[in-house]
Amino acid sequence: MQYHLDTIPVWEAMEWQRECPLCGLARKTEAEEIERVLGASVMEPGERIKVNARGICREHHQMMFAKQNRLSHALLMESHHKEQLDTLHKLQSLSASGAGRPSLFSKRTLAEEISSTLAGMHAHCVVCEKIDTHMSRYHYTFLHLWRTDKAFRKAWQEGKGVCLPHVQSLMEQSKKVLSRKEQSAFASEALAHLIHALEIDAADLAHFTRKFDYRNQSMPWGESKTALERMVNRLRGWCLGDEPYPIKER
Ligand SMILES: [Zn+2]
Ligand SMILES: [Zn+2]
Repeated sequence: MQYHLDTIPVWEAMEWQRECPLCGLARKTEAEEIERVLGASVMEPGERIKVNARGICREHHQMMFAKQNRLSHALLMESHHKEQLDTLHKLQSLSASGAGRPSLFSKRTLAEEISSTLAGMHAHCVVCEKIDTHMSRYHYTFLHLWRTDKAFRKAWQEGKGVCLPHVQSLMEQSKKVLSRKEQSAFASEALAHLIHALEIDAADLAHFTRKFDYRNQSMPWGESKTALERMVNRLRGWCLGDEPYPIKER
């Protein structure tokens, strides 16, 4: 796949100086996509067709619901459900006519046919797919900047690195952007960052648990109050605590 570089958002994420710039970018992209799906894509026929065909996952329905834009959400569901209902009717006719016999064209039994069609009906999400597309480009750009831009390399070296899942996805992408020698140099730097950050999280987490002993009441919290969230986010990608990017007040 050919990617175009998108340096501005990647640089911006580095300047946030959060625990993982890529978690920040992913979360910001997600928030923007939720806004877009509820806004423009309700109005744009092309986008609407995609939502109708692919649907939206549970997590992103929850985020859309929390936006309190019930009319847009309802309009999307009104047209999406029609496609789902069409497919269900087809399955219903198939089951009425087939009664469990394998079809002439497929070795699958009726139950397998129905099960796999139903699985496909709730397997996709336009928001997840958009985030994946953007993130692939950001990973590509991140590695390109690491390789070519001295200022970016310096910001990376002085920063906190990225979380474990994002080290993995950068390593995956690195095959397309970096030479073998560069891949191993990048891996060393990324792993050193990760180990160092995790050791700090671990020391803070130990301090955090000690604070629950009444004998340690007078001990200051220090940096330990966010140790649990930081450690979970570091090992699994951001999912707990403060948003991983600065949210502009409107
Ligand atoms: Zn991350
Ligand atoms: Zn989704």
